[in-house]
Amino acid sequence: MDFSFPPQAETFRSEVQAFLAEHLNEDMIRATHDGTIHAPALHAAMADRGWLSGPVPAELGGGGRSALESVVLNEEMQLARAPIDAMAVTIVVAAILLEHANDTVKETVVPRLLDGTALGCFGYTEPESGSDVAAAATKAVRDGDEWVINGAKMWTTMAHIADYVILLTRTDPEVPKHKGLTFFLVPLDTPGIEIRPVPTMATERSNATFYDDVRLSDQWRIGEVNGGWAVMKTALKYERGIAGGQFPSPPVIDAAVDWARTHVRPDGTHPIDDPAVRERLMRALIDVEVCRGFAYHCADLANEGAMFGVEGSMTKLFASESYKRHCRDFHDLMGAEGLLTHEAVDAHLGGRIEENLRHSPVTAIYGGTSEINRNLVAEVHLGLPRIR
Ligand SMILES: Cc1cc2nc3c(=O)[nH]c(=O)nc-3n(C[C@H](O)[C@H](O)[C@H](O)COP(=O)(O)OP(=O)(O)OC[C@H]3O[C@@H](n4cnc5c(N)ncnc54)[C@H](O)[C@@H]3O)c2cc1C
Repeated sequence: MDFSFPPQAETFRSEVQAFLAEHLNEDMIRATHDGTIHAPALHAAMADRGWLSGPVPAELGGGGRSALESVVLNEEMQLARAPIDAMAVTIVVAAILLEHANDTVKETVVPRLLDGTALGCFGYTEPESGSDVAAAATKAVRDGDEWVINGAKMWTTMAHIADYVILLTRTDPEVPKHKGLTFFLVPLDTPGIEIRPVPTMATERSNATFYDDVRLSDQWRIGEVNGGWAVMKTALKYERGIAGGQFPSPPVIDAAVDWARTHVRPDGTHPIDDPAVRERLMRALIDVEVCRGFAYHCADLANEGAMFGVEGSMTKLFASESYKRHCRDFHDLMGAEGLLTHEAVDAHLGGRIEENLRHSPVTAIYGGTSEINRNLVAEVHLGLPRIR
């Protein structure tokens, strides 16, 4: 088997590495300690290169980069620890709008998202519906040419810096749940919206958002009335694209290898001298190769024109569960030293392992929990019976 990438993708990889060497710095990475995973200057530089529109299909007006190039971009950004959450969400919002919005929204909003001057965020999850996203209860009621929206969303990450939220609402409570949903693009400065911070143990800031008699003209509707599930499927399709390129572990493995080489034990040896430590590090590196295999397989399928489904679930499941395992393992190896956070001056590599330990669990929750992904793998890939 030949696992090498086509020359065009490798040339692009070198271009991304050179770009990151020029534009990404430690201050940008450190700034995420305030909880917002976004670096405006990096985002603007990416937009200047046309890389925000890169993953959006050319026939929709995007950059039309191949899936292999997109996975290369994702991989290099994650290996370099670039803060890309706002960027990834904004690209998905732009792609959804290009597929489902009317011409006015396409012509006025999408160019601002793709040139880096506006940010989007996702408003799907509610206090009572997360995995079962189709159970959304936020109400949108028609009033002449306008809609009146009332409800609450939970975990609207980036809402505090975004310009727009793509909002899932219920427009018909009388029909089966998937058939009574409608999406809106809501400018976040519309009167009646309140954004409250939700801190997480990962330091990452999310938000609870409240919609109190928010009035919107019909031009902000995305897709058909009660056709929200079709829009949701598009959203999941592009989100899976992101899931197809998950490489959270390598920076934390690098930190663990560095610690094992430099830490001096009371007997003068280094942890790396211990075969049991080396085995734990090797197991983590092998997991990363498995992650790469999954991610490249997804990209390859997408490149061939096949929309991957369960393969995206497998990739995300393996990447986030192994990332959690590596962080726990390295933290265990480091003992008490592993408890030092980035605020401690003598924390190893700025407390990278401790920070990743707190961050890793959430990757098995957002974008579809591990339990939901296991169900999908069991039902779709292994053919086990559906139990719900
Ligand atoms: C930090 C953070 C950021 C987020 N950002 C966003 C965002 O920007 N926008 C947005 O809309 N959402 C966002 N989310 C929400 C995220 O997508 C949901 O938390 C996730 O889908 C799970 O939903 P829930 O929290 O309601 O848990 P629930 O769906 O209530 O699940 C609770 C538990 O039950 C399990 N479970 C549920 N159903 C099943 C089943 N059928 N079979 C087996 N087990 C099951 C789950 O795996 C989980 O362990 C974010 C979440 C977090 C934590």
